[in-house]
Amino acid sequence: MGIVGGRQQAKLRNMAEYLLGIDLGGTNIKIGCFDTDLKLIGKISVPTGTDMGPESIVEEFHAVSSELLKRHELSLADVSAVGIGSPGLVNTIKGIVEAAPNLPLFKNVPFRDLVAKRFGKPTILENDANAACWAEYVIGAARGVDHMIMLTLGTGIGGGIVSDGKLIHGPTGGAAELGHVIIYPAGRSCPCGQNGCAEAYASASSTVARATEAVQNGAQSSLTTVLEAQKKITCKGVFEHAGNGDSLANEIVDGTAKALALLCLQMVKTTDPHSIVFAGGMIAAGDALLDRIRHFYKQYIGRLFKKDHLRLCFAVLGEDAGITGASALAQTACKS
Ligand SMILES: [Zn+2]
Repeated sequence: MGIVGGRQQAKLRNMAEYLLGIDLGGTNIKIGCFDTDLKLIGKISVPTGTDMGPESIVEEFHAVSSELLKRHELSLADVSAVGIGSPGLVNTIKGIVEAAPNLPLFKNVPFRDLVAKRFGKPTILENDANAACWAEYVIGAARGVDHMIMLTLGTGIGGGIVSDGKLIHGPTGGAAELGHVIIYPAGRSCPCGQNGCAEAYASASSTVARATEAVQNGAQSSLTTVLEAQKKITCKGVFEHAGNGDSLANEIVDGTAKALALLCLQMVKTTDPHSIVFAGGMIAAGDALLDRIRHFYKQYIGRLFKKDHLRLCFAVLGEDAGITGASALAQTACKS
C-alpha cells in the first residue's frame, strides 16, 4: 500500500481539516499547520520586516502559508480556520491590533478582518501571550485543569489567565497584563509609566539591568570581569555565575524569584488557579529558578491562603506554544 499524503487524506475525509496558526513576533513570523488533534504537520519561520505595514504582513502570511501547505501536499482548500497571535495591545473582541511596540506601523489595525479577507477563512486574533497560554492549557503543562495562569518571562513579562476553562479578556481584551501588577510600590520604574511592576524586577531584561547596575555601583562580583570584557551581562550569565557561587549573582536571582513569588501571591488570591506556568527564555535556568520561586512563595503566603492544589511549574511547549495556541483558538472559534 502506498503512502497517503496529507492532501489525499483530507480529500478522503472530504473536508477542510487543517488549521493554520500564525505567531507574529517583532523578530520573526512563524506559521504552523496543524491537524484537528493539534498535531504539528509542519512550520516555517521568516524574519519580520519591521518596516512592513499590515497589508504587506498579510501578503507575507499568505505567501508563507501557501509555501508551507505546498510542502505538505496541501492547499488553502484544506484549511478550515486561521489563528493569529499578535504582540502588543490587541482588542480580541473587535479583532484590532491597537498598538505593537516592535511593529510601528500597527496602529488600530483591523488585522483579523484583513487576514480573514485575504485567506477567505474564519480567523481569530489573539494577544500572543494569551495564545501561548491557551496552548499550555489545551495540550501543555496545564492540560486537564480548568484554572491556570501563565507568565512568560522574556524582555517583558506576558500574562495569560484561564478561569473556568475560558481565557479572560475583559471588555476590550486588556486583561492579564500581569507583568504590570505592582509588587513594590515606589519601586523601580517600568516603561509602562508605573513604579514597582513585577516586570521591572523579574523579566530577563530587568534581571540583567539590576545585575549591571549593581556591578557599575561597585558591588564585588565575578560578573565585573564579564561586564568589562564583553561590555554587557546576559540573563543566562547571571544564572551561571549564581550557580558558581557568586554572591551578587545569587542576590540578583533571588530578587527575580522573590518578585515572581509576590506576583504568584496576588494571582492565587485573584483567581485561585490549579497551576501557574512559567514560560519564556528564562526557564532555561531550570530548578535554579523554579526552586527559588517555590521557596519564596511558601515563605510569603499567608496561612489562610495556602492551597494544596496549586502547582508552580514550567511550560512544556517551548517556542511552538504561540502557533499551537493560535491554531487551538481558531479551532474553538470554528466550533462555537
Ligand atoms: Zn509596568
